[in-house]
Amino acid sequence: MSPLDCDLLVIGSGAGGLSAAVTAAKLGLKVIVAEKEAQFGGTTAWSGGWMWLPRNPLAVEAGIVEPIDEPLAYLRHELGERFDEARARAFLEAAPRMVEFFRTKTALRFIDGNAIPDFHGRAPHASLGGRSLCAAPFDGRRLGARIADLKPPLPETTLWGMGIASGAELRHFFNALRKPASLWYVTQRVLAHGKDLLLHRRGMRLVNGNALIAALATSAFEAGVEVRTSCPARRLLRDGERVTGAVLATPEGVVEVHARCGVVLACGGFPHDDDRKRALLPHARTGKEHHSAASRGNTGDGLRLGETAGGQVATDGVQAAALAPVSLVPQADGSFAHFPHLVERGKPGLIAVTRRGQRFTNEADSYHDFMQALLAALPAGEPVQAWLVCDHAFMRHYGLGAAKPAPMPLGPMIANGYVQRGQTLAELARACGIDGDALQQTVQRFNRQALAGQDEDFAKGETAYNHMQGDAPFAAEQGWPNPCMGPLERGPFYAVKVVAGSLGTFAGLRTNAHAQVLDTQGQPIAGLYAGGNDMNSLMAGHYPSGGITLGPAMTFGWLAAHHMAGRLPSP
Ligand SMILES: Cc1cc2nc3c(=O)[nH]c(=O)nc-3n(C[C@H](O)[C@H](O)[C@H](O)COP(=O)(O)OP(=O)(O)OC[C@H]3O[C@@H](n4cnc5c(N)ncnc54)[C@H](O)[C@@H]3O)c2cc1C
Repeated sequence: MSPLDCDLLVIGSGAGGLSAAVTAAKLGLKVIVAEKEAQFGGTTAWSGGWMWLPRNPLAVEAGIVEPIDEPLAYLRHELGERFDEARARAFLEAAPRMVEFFRTKTALRFIDGNAIPDFHGRAPHASLGGRSLCAAPFDGRRLGARIADLKPPLPETTLWGMGIASGAELRHFFNALRKPASLWYVTQRVLAHGKDLLLHRRGMRLVNGNALIAALATSAFEAGVEVRTSCPARRLLRDGERVTGAVLATPEGVVEVHARCGVVLACGGFPHDDDRKRALLPHARTGKEHHSAASRGNTGDGLRLGETAGGQVATDGVQAAALAPVSLVPQADGSFAHFPHLVERGKPGLIAVTRRGQRFTNEADSYHDFMQALLAALPAGEPVQAWLVCDHAFMRHYGLGAAKPAPMPLGPMIANGYVQRGQTLAELARACGIDGDALQQTVQRFNRQALAGQDEDFAKGETAYNHMQGDAPFAAEQGWPNPCMGPLERGPFYAVKVVAGSLGTFAGLRTNAHAQVLDTQGQPIAGLYAGGNDMNSLMAGHYPSGGITLGPAMTFGWLAAHHMAGRLPSP
């Protein structure tokens, strides 16, 4: 096939890639996006869509004004010796401008996170809110025929394919059988979704990360970006040291794409690259013991391509992946979906135990902290696994992982072995292979503490983040003083096994403040940029707040585009 020409070639169509693509196109560059999978969006399309963007315009408009030194000091404290001031400043200075750019010049709109606290509320300079944003719901019809190319949300997190927005909307779904207003809301949503399925064969009210990708893709198409799906990049083209394009395997054959200004690698890191997982994740001895919930197309291609041009993958982060407890959901074809447990752990009436029947952490802490605690609690070499345990009332109210709350049927999830059930705790323990006596003692102790409202072992429910993850109105109705703690009282009891997984990876190509990939001498490689999780995380393996992958992905994509267009971002 004859070669293609452009100014910017973006490899990968998640937030990291599309942020750069849209920005560059708006700055007048001719842009091609190459996506390996048949649909665009990557893990971003499955995500919550939350972005950590301190000092963003929506917070400022709500009166939450903080100097750059505040989030900078929070990062300095959280990241310790791995704090990189140049990159942190570049990110924090650019983040508000990036938001202003997208909300005024593109189809992307945001909803505020003014009540969303940082993960570590006890740390100095942590915020109680105003440092994050989410993509606003988006009407899929704006994508026209290209809606067919948008990766749908992760099926296990939807109801018949309908994405549910976090926050108030999700609360309505939990309360649908308890509160008339919630039942009314849910009924309307389900009916509208049913109509979408009849007319369009998919939901059209897009939320969370799916809305983020749909808005970015719509903006990309409107700005003339060519987005090619089923086109994996196979190798980079170089002229001397400079990267000048890439070779794509397209459905029509192999094609060279020449890019005058640069190439952005944005292939979503290495969540499904067993070799790199084995090398960088100590708990994944063969690589296969780490079950990432990230998109299956993210097999480390961007990191390998970057290395061929002299780039370096950082290996000095405190943790190479954004860890999360994941359960393995049996599928009809014998495979397993990877379900990330992000929501129910903080609700009142759930505990997590190891096979010794003992709790090991504050279940309402972040998914990353939960996993770090599990890894620390287990003797070296022991399989990384734990059980989330609840009673019947909890199961039907909140569900457990991929097992949905009432009125959705629970039977199939028990029949396929995903959920373990016991009429008594002893029976449940036997089914799971947990120490039964210890489990009963753990539950008795937890129940006493739940009724008193104080977790003497792990301080559950004491931070603003814990509160947000809990359910204060329901706990108050029950007379439980702690929004994250309720007793596990009446059987049957249930458990779901969780294993080591992640939302994505942190370790990536070393870059500078313009997102340029650096060589072994720390010098930028001309024409080569990294975005999203192909870029070594600014957080160096720490996880200070929700949205710390998508916020930097959006911001550094925007910065990279300005750099290659030779245009400093306007203040
Ligand atoms: C359920 C869930 C919820 C999450 N919620 C949040 C959240 O709210 N906030 C947050 O910050 N993070 C969240 N995350 C993590 C976040 O989604 C990822 O960190 C982020 O989407 C990564 O963006 P990316 O652009 O690097 O990669 P992706 O969005 O995964 O995009 C990479 C793309 O590159 C493509 N690709 C791979 N190789 C090639 C190749 N050779 N050629 C061409 N294309 C290629 C892939 O197919 C993919 O489409 C969540 C993750 C999950 C699983």
